[in-house]
Amino acid sequence: MRMSTNSIKISADAIRNSIKVPKHPVWPELSGEEKAELKERIKLLLKEQNAVLVAHYYTDGDLQALAEETGGCVADSLEMARFGTSTHAETIIVCGVRFMGETSKILNPEKRVLMPDLDATCSLDVGCPADLFSQYCDEHPDHTVVVYANTSAAVKARADWMVTSGIALPIVSHLRERGEKVLWAPDRHLGKYIEKVTGTDMLLWPGSCVVHEEFKSVALERIRRLHPDAAVLVHPESPEHVIDQADVVGSTTQLIKAVSEMEQDKFIVATDDGIFWKMQQVAPHKTLISAPTAGEGATCESCAHCPWMAMNSLQNLEQVLINGDNEIHIDEAIRQKALIPIERMLVFAEEHGISGKYTGD
Ligand code: SF4
Repeated sequence: MRMSTNSIKISADAIRNSIKVPKHPVWPELSGEEKAELKERIKLLLKEQNAVLVAHYYTDGDLQALAEETGGCVADSLEMARFGTSTHAETIIVCGVRFMGETSKILNPEKRVLMPDLDATCSLDVGCPADLFSQYCDEHPDHTVVVYANTSAAVKARADWMVTSGIALPIVSHLRERGEKVLWAPDRHLGKYIEKVTGTDMLLWPGSCVVHEEFKSVALERIRRLHPDAAVLVHPESPEHVIDQADVVGSTTQLIKAVSEMEQDKFIVATDDGIFWKMQQVAPHKTLISAPTAGEGATCESCAHCPWMAMNSLQNLEQVLINGDNEIHIDEAIRQKALIPIERMLVFAEEHGISGKYTGD
């Protein structure tokens, strides 16, 4: 990323080029019997270590099923973190990506937070380095800094507010009513969507999600013509022309709710296809179609599945329970600062009757 001493110049291309997207990991194929034995060993280890498993909707279905079977939870990023505050378990195993483990630790400092792979990260997080972001904020002191949940603890520590995709609109509308200008980071597509809906004066950090950015609007139009009876569900990290075609724009939790509550039997879904496990669970008779990506014969880095989420498996989950490594540590001064924008969001939700789900990625 380009940076000069006086002012920073950040471009979407520079950020995109700075991100090294890993190849999808290939885990050894397990027979049904081997998988069942492995799950039993993990269950035993969880019990022995008073540990609980929290898994994101984008992780492998086996991990999501195991989290539910063992009294853990399957949720979006914020619910995953909040679950930790209500459990008596001493150890929280976060199956997801790094910022989710960090958010869990910010809210649960007294607990041990482990992850199957600490290198599992997120293109939004990597594309918003704390030093550069802090300089950008310093250059715009008249803006209120609002960051998305998909950021590091250090970036959250520099923010006035943290929001998730489920609560971003009411919070930014509230800031607009107070006459505040907003500096938004890191997802430019989500930022643009919020700017358009709320009419707020916003400066947008030009980051993006490598998974959602690959959904293609022309191909989506084609698939909609093939399935005119299907409802189109889109996560707001997707590009504007994809969002424009949505029947529902929402966070992971809101999209799952849409599948279970809408009358349609068929849905075209523009988000990570790991979410299909939960959608199928809540609405087993409905048909789910993945929205088209660049993968149709072209180069595709994610093909509707996050390569970092795919770093979580039953195999490395067992290893982390055996070795007790991959622990999340956060500098206490940073943790305390990062807690402020998160708590501000939670208080806002309480005060405005936005109960229950403040849903995230
Ligand atoms: S799907 Fe996108 S936003 Fe979610 S963790 Fe992966 S890269 Fe980040």
